[in-house]
Amino acid sequence: MKVARTIAETRSALEDVRDGPIGLVPTMGGLHEGHLSLLRAAREECDTVVMSLFVNPAQFGDEHDLASYPRDEERDLALARDAGVDLVFAPSTEEMYPAGFQTWVEVTEVGSRLEGAFRPGHFRGVATVVLKLFSVVRPDRAYFGQKDAQQVAVIRQMIRDLALDVDLRVLPTVRDDDGLALSSRNALLTTEERKRALALPRALATKDLTAARALLARSNGLDVDYVEVAEFDPPVLAGAVRVGSVRLIDNVALEGDSK
Ligand code: AMP
Repeated sequence: MKVARTIAETRSALEDVRDGPIGLVPTMGGLHEGHLSLLRAAREECDTVVMSLFVNPAQFGDEHDLASYPRDEERDLALARDAGVDLVFAPSTEEMYPAGFQTWVEVTEVGSRLEGAFRPGHFRGVATVVLKLFSVVRPDRAYFGQKDAQQVAVIRQMIRDLALDVDLRVLPTVRDDDGLALSSRNALLTTEERKRALALPRALATKDLTAARALLARSNGLDVDYVEVAEFDPPVLAGAVRVGSVRLIDNVALEGDSK
């Protein structure tokens, strides 16, 4: 497995493998089974698997959230190697946002609701970095998790609007046995907070907006940012809560693939 730190290195490493399909799995590290399911799908479907590892400052509004985001590159690289990744693109912030950077991608409608309303600028950061990763790697397929359903909707819209030549693959949300969706931020929860966080998947599992809101209103020790039905593809019941200093999001599909 090769680790590339620069755009130039990444491009030159991929030069000779363009005759077969290239899969890209964008991540911010803190790898867990959710990420690994994307890497496995990419490994099955593509000749070359590229994983990006970049905690993208542009998608964080909150300095504390950015500073506390779990980072363990050595562990992530070992897991990527075990998953059969061919190339990890792990750039510095300066490589992705050089001095004078001023070009942003804004998916205006899809990106402004729900998460976009609570985290202004978040999806602008996501869309911009994903477009830049697409430009660097030029993947045939890109793999994303349904866990971040609005992110998928934003990227799908961007691919369509900008006629990007990439096939979007979306994989089901991977959960722990207790129902909590895997997330790098779960590592920041205390045992007690984790118990309280379980109200979110339990509420969403009702697949009923009124019941979900009622269940969360009865739950102690968490603050609800929103619980809404979102008309994505597929439509989802989505929610975001804050438990201590950790913010968690989750969703369940309301029709179609119910995983
Ligand atoms: P992140 O490192 O949080 O930016 O996530 C990288 C990719 O993994 C995104 O496409 C996420 O949607 C996906 N992902 C994160 N958590 C899960 C999960 N529990 N199940 C499936 N995919 C996930």
